[in-house]
Amino acid sequence: MPLEEDFTLDLGKLTAAEAQGVLVANPNAPTGIGIPLAEMEKFIAANDRVVVVDEAYMPFYNQSAAALTKKYANLLVVKTFSKGYSLAGMRCGYAIGDALLIGGLERCRDSFNSYPVDRICQAVCAAAISDTAYYAEKNALVISERERLRAELKKRGFTVLPSGANFVFAKHAQKSGKEIYDGLRARGVLVRHFAKPRIDAFCRITVGSASENDALLAALDAFL
Ligand SMILES: *Cc1c(COP(=O)(O)O)cnc(C)c1O
Repeated sequence: MPLEEDFTLDLGKLTAAEAQGVLVANPNAPTGIGIPLAEMEKFIAANDRVVVVDEAYMPFYNQSAAALTKKYANLLVVKTFSKGYSLAGMRCGYAIGDALLIGGLERCRDSFNSYPVDRICQAVCAAAISDTAYYAEKNALVISERERLRAELKKRGFTVLPSGANFVFAKHAQKSGKEIYDGLRARGVLVRHFAKPRIDAFCRITVGSASENDALLAALDAFL
């Protein structure tokens, strides 16, 4: 489903679309734009088909639909340890949903299980889930650095989409996305540039530590 002019997703159009099921990334990538929980609930309630909500970036947005799985049997919420838990190397994720939906996954996963979850992985991820205080602190830090980065980029002539993720999606008033990408790369800072229609003016910039973000801003100042 193509996004609107401002890169938001029109859930009304998605509700009307003919499909057996729908998959919504919330927050979305690479825009970073999130859909508030109340709006998501309306969308889930308006659908009979299966709605999969991919919450890979939810640790940086805090509007999870996970609790709604008790209320809506058509909702499957999928999570990963790759982002908010900083455990991408573990290759682990999980799904939350009604017993019928989970049962469907159980029936086919022995044939299609590309990433079996071994015992070390289970121990690591269980430990991570238990340490809520540590991750709440780390993710709050990412969020505050994201907002600082957004403000600093705006001061430097960037349009920055509102982000609910651990990155910002930004375009400069004078420089093209490719020029920003090349200018930063020449100064040792790597961001993502997608040479694709509608988004080629933008760069996706991952939120780093405070000193990494400072290095990015210094490189930008040197380039601009
Ligand atoms: C990172 C990501 C995932 C999950 O990634 P894995 O590392 O394979 O668990 C899923 N959806 C989105 C939108 C992501 O950005």
